[in-house]
Amino acid sequence: MATNDILQRFTFDHSHVRGELVGLKQTLADIYKRQSYPEPVNNLLGELLVAAALLSATVKIEGLLSLQVQTDGPVRLLLAETRHDGKLRGIARMDEEKDVSQDSLLGTKGQLIITIEPDKGRRYQGIVELEQGSITKSLEGYFRQSEQLDTHLWIHCENGVAAGLFLQELPALGEVQEAMEVDEDAWNRLNQLAQTLRPDELMHLENDEILHRLYHEEQVRLYDGQPLTFNCSCSKERLSVALTQIGYAECQDIIDEQSKIRADCQFCGQHYSFTQSDVNGLFPLESAKNGKGLH
Ligand SMILES: [Zn+2]
Repeated sequence: MATNDILQRFTFDHSHVRGELVGLKQTLADIYKRQSYPEPVNNLLGELLVAAALLSATVKIEGLLSLQVQTDGPVRLLLAETRHDGKLRGIARMDEEKDVSQDSLLGTKGQLIITIEPDKGRRYQGIVELEQGSITKSLEGYFRQSEQLDTHLWIHCENGVAAGLFLQELPALGEVQEAMEVDEDAWNRLNQLAQTLRPDELMHLENDEILHRLYHEEQVRLYDGQPLTFNCSCSKERLSVALTQIGYAECQDIIDEQSKIRADCQFCGQHYSFTQSDVNGLFPLESAKNGKGLH
């Protein structure tokens, strides 16, 4: 990975293969310190965060991309979100009654849900089975089934460092292909070379060193990186939306009992509280009818 948390694309001359490298360290530290997950769970969450960052570069939208893993294992849920500008956040949920020190944290059955929510436009969701408890295998399956694109991902997370390598074969564009001198065997060769990269090299070499290590005989171009950071998009306004869904009666009950509604963001731990006047503002008609809005 690079010295800083970054997403970097690369391409090969004379082939329709695109690549990306992602590395996370500070982002993970910022996420881990807000939670207290066992290390194996941290590592899985790190993997999913890298996967989300890698995928975000393949969708050209302004908005949110999220990956959610739901399983019957000790880790019930993993959620990683990224915005187009490289802001990441994530959480894990564990089954208190199961042992998280066991090997198959993701159980025997599960699914991976990919959600893309453009700031403007329609929400997209894709669901695939969790293949062999592996996030990378499941995503490769997703690209094969849904996009008909051959894709390989290598992701490792250990000791607070997560890194990923992504290769994808893009469809040839008819006329452009004829005009270009295309290397037909490139996809197989580039993948075989990528297979030789060891996890410690992926996590600890600089990105240009990784590409040199793998592809010094290829014509590869590494582009400027997109910085990645932890950033939570929570706000009092967003939590207000959740309160309006709970409804006036329940909100007013909590205020009557506890004088405040307290809510903590599950991603960053930020505390929010809502008073009677907040509830009046959210439900003007109901609170006026109930005499609570007249103070
Ligand atoms: Zn938050």
